[in-house]
Amino acid sequence: MRLGILALQGAFIEHEQALQRLGVDFVEIRQLADWQQAMPADGKRLDGLIIPGGESTVQGKLLRDLGLFEPIQAEILRGLPVFGTCAGLLLLAEQLNNDERLHLATMHITAKRNAYGRQLGSFYIEADFKGLGKIPMTFIRAPYIEAVGPQVEVLAEVNGKIVAAREGKQLVTAFHPELTGNDSVHKYFLEMIQNN
Ligand code: GLN
Repeated sequence: MRLGILALQGAFIEHEQALQRLGVDFVEIRQLADWQQAMPADGKRLDGLIIPGGESTVQGKLLRDLGLFEPIQAEILRGLPVFGTCAGLLLLAEQLNNDERLHLATMHITAKRNAYGRQLGSFYIEADFKGLGKIPMTFIRAPYIEAVGPQVEVLAEVNGKIVAAREGKQLVTAFHPELTGNDSVHKYFLEMIQNN
């Protein structure tokens, strides 16, 4: 198995470290040539893509400027498994309730940016994740999911707000599992890829 990690901005190194701990091969996607090489028309292609946390507006702009936006969106719509954390969730959201700039918009969720306000900008909690039990969750200027489409499965809620969800082969978390040293959400993604 080989995953792509979008490495334009934000916390991509921490995802790489998680994959290293799990013994999974990966390639950084920094420019269109990386993507074209990793997704040849014939031959071995990526099994999935991770979109890290960071700043969704910056990543969205870079995706467009670098010509990566359309090819990545097309592959996700064609079924390429994708895991978006925090800003990655915002990039995948079909709707943002407090920002009219939309990005890949492939997942039927409505998300709210910087949803916890200033006081609770960053926090740590342990909470249930469907099928994984209680896991550590680190939130940094995080969004939450306000509404989901009927195809979306809610995987975790914190204080009554949805913080993890899945739709088909798309997985999102509002928190940063790559910063906790607990790799169970990454393992969940790998199983999602394998159970075709
Ligand atoms: N606040 C950021 C945004 O709006 C997300 C923060 C994060 O990824 N940790 O994109």
